[in-house]
Amino acid sequence: MAVQREWFEKDYYQVLGVPENVSEKDLTRTYRKLAKQYHPDANPGAEDRFKEISTAYEVIGDPAKRKEYDDVRRMGPAAAGFGQPGGGPGGQTFRTEDMGDLGDLFGGLFGGRSRGRRAAQRGDDLEAHLHLDFAEAIDGVTTSVHVPGQSPCSPCRGTGAKAGTAMKTCPRCHGSGQMNDNQGMFSLAQVCPTCSGRGSLIETPCDACHGSGRAPSNRQVKVRIPSGVDDGQRIKVKGKGSPGTNGGPAGDLYVVISVAAHQLFTKKGRNLLISVPVSMAEAVLGTTVTVPSLHESVTVKVPAGFQSGMSLRVRGYGVPAAKIDGVSGDLLVKVDVVVPKHPSEDHVALFEQLRALDDDAALRAKLNVT
Ligand SMILES: [Zn+2]
Ligand SMILES: [Zn+2]
Repeated sequence: MAVQREWFEKDYYQVLGVPENVSEKDLTRTYRKLAKQYHPDANPGAEDRFKEISTAYEVIGDPAKRKEYDDVRRMGPAAAGFGQPGGGPGGQTFRTEDMGDLGDLFGGLFGGRSRGRRAAQRGDDLEAHLHLDFAEAIDGVTTSVHVPGQSPCSPCRGTGAKAGTAMKTCPRCHGSGQMNDNQGMFSLAQVCPTCSGRGSLIETPCDACHGSGRAPSNRQVKVRIPSGVDDGQRIKVKGKGSPGTNGGPAGDLYVVISVAAHQLFTKKGRNLLISVPVSMAEAVLGTTVTVPSLHESVTVKVPAGFQSGMSLRVRGYGVPAAKIDGVSGDLLVKVDVVVPKHPSEDHVALFEQLRALDDDAALRAKLNVT
């Protein structure tokens, strides 16, 4: 897990409004409350706030990440070489060329993990994509996603050295995997750049992996997608990212959802929307219409005098209740009164009678008033 630049800039405790020594239990409770309050379904327009809350909880809600975050923040941005290129006061700033190295650097600096030659590291977070049809997204689904990743190369058993050849001790660090970098105020143990902390170098690389020790692999990961997911939503599957190294925990898997559009339905929050056409006569006199829903069709009574563009609510036919709030959505049936584009002669004759009636009514109304 590379250290994120954002970690220096954002106070996730403040984002969630909790003290820094908050217990895991209280943290989760506060997060649930905020997530419910700012969920875009309940509170459209609060999306940014919701994202902010989610991001904060993804880090400090995970004990391993929270520890890393706390450690990193204790040192401050200057220690990581951010913001002050060329060195800060007292020369305690060190420079890093790329973010990827930061993880290594901190892995060696913090948390008592630098005792051994090979520091335990959390595996990377991975991303997988999942396409759902409309009904699956509404109801939720348990399925599996294809996760491209890496596994140890089998001919060399992950060492990177050709089978039967020996490794040689790194000449730079003499096998310790670390270098002491004396920078005035601080003496920092850094990972040896020559051997990347392994302490040894490969003399003859493995033919299969060219010395990387890794081979591409594909995994199928089973994921449970909750009901009512939206297009573009990310679902976190804890511990299903890349495996950790040297006993470190696995990273997380993020499943990015795409949802196919439906010909008849649209989704708004936990409600489903559909439009049904009725004739002018039906709107005036009232009618019943049979409306498809995602599972069985429902019969809806349109009362007499119903106005075009208004909706009827069919309770419980929307997104099924989610575990988090236990509230299921509704089906909203929008009634569209259809004006005949090419009326028959009979229609025209009847509408002319209607117009005469309306004129009479208007005239009577006028006479009553004056
Ligand atoms: Zn070395
Ligand atoms: Zn190999």
